Amino acid sequence: MINRKMYDLGAKPSAIRNLFEYGKKRKSEIGEENVFDFSLGNPNVPAPSIVNETLEKLIKETSPELLHGYTSGAGDFNVRNSIAAYINNKYNLNEEASLIYMTCGAAASLTITLNAILNEGDEVIVLTPYFPEYKVFIEKANGKIVEVKTNNNFKPDLELLDKSINHNTKAIIINYPNNPTGVVLNEEELVLLTEFLKEKEKQYNKNIYLISDEPYRELVYKDKEMSYVTKYYNNTIVCYSFSKSLSLPGERIGYILVGSNCVNKADVYFAICGAGRSLGFVCAPALFQYMIPHCLGYTSNIDIYKENRDILYNALISYGYDVIKPEGAFYIFMKSLDNDANKFCEFAKKYELLLVPSDSFGCPGYVRLSYCVSQEMIKKSLNSFEKLIKDYKEI
Ligand code: PLP
Repeated sequence: MINRKMYDLGAKPSAIRNLFEYGKKRKSEIGEENVFDFSLGNPNVPAPSIVNETLEKLIKETSPELLHGYTSGAGDFNVRNSIAAYINNKYNLNEEASLIYMTCGAAASLTITLNAILNEGDEVIVLTPYFPEYKVFIEKANGKIVEVKTNNNFKPDLELLDKSINHNTKAIIINYPNNPTGVVLNEEELVLLTEFLKEKEKQYNKNIYLISDEPYRELVYKDKEMSYVTKYYNNTIVCYSFSKSLSLPGERIGYILVGSNCVNKADVYFAICGAGRSLGFVCAPALFQYMIPHCLGYTSNIDIYKENRDILYNALISYGYDVIKPEGAFYIFMKSLDNDANKFCEFAKKYELLLVPSDSFGCPGYVRLSYCVSQEMIKKSLNSFEKLIKDYKEI
């Protein structure tokens, strides 16, 4: 007998993937330019030119056995060193290369981290709406997912968190800039959250890990950058990825950073190495590891996403949709016109609008739009959004 849980995960693709597949089919029927596909967070802004320049240089100048060979399981030490130096310089910290583990993107960073810290029955708090794969990752690591609602601005609600934390709480996952809301936590809010968690650690006399899932760290549209979480909370584990900042989601490159003030940091790191080993996530893609030191501090052209956000947000608001203004990442989270977001998204397909219903984000009644798409498509889609709200109100 095969594993039934794995069968179910494979046989029932996520709502997002389903919609993406529908979009591909629809595009082949009526032409790519006539489908307004806001389903997937696949960056459409090209990687910065330094990426290709570095790759060409590496291919020309590095010996093949080094370029395509195994690195150490946790990643090449020089690469990890340059990442630590970059973070320390930028945020004035003392993070350690020996506590960095190179991974195949944020998904791998999260699964490794969860497998490293969870024992059977440990609870992991996620804040709704959340990236749907968290549930898959937590449950595979034998943990129990605990969903906690956010407040009206989609920020952590400390009163609700207070009611949800108990002796079994092992970790909380945060994700800012956020998928699907685009919300960013400012420094004051981060301090409130981390002070609260410190109190809870004291109250329950245990470590509560703050897992900071950061694939969108650099994608912030206001003047202030995201604060670095290890500065505020000792038991922080950062799950980073270059998928979105450098527009390289298919290359699978990221890292885990165990905060240098984490309690028993060496043990936590060994457990990360062990989880990486047991999951087969050793030696992240070598070529892309070697590329990283040359590209730290670079991003794809984020101004394009900001323009997309402004065009879409301003139009949606003017048509009467209920939308919060995203401050980062490249998603808009919009109130569904029907309580049943699935029904609404089905209706939107008549206008060739592909929107993701929010149920799988643990927050029914909304839809998510990914605006990492061509500006031309966004502009062309606006008529359809206008018609959609008019027609829906008339039903
Ligand atoms: N976490 C969040 C919040 C995401 O949105 C994504 C991808 O969209 C991931 C993790 C996984 O990122 P990666 O492609 O680097 O594995």
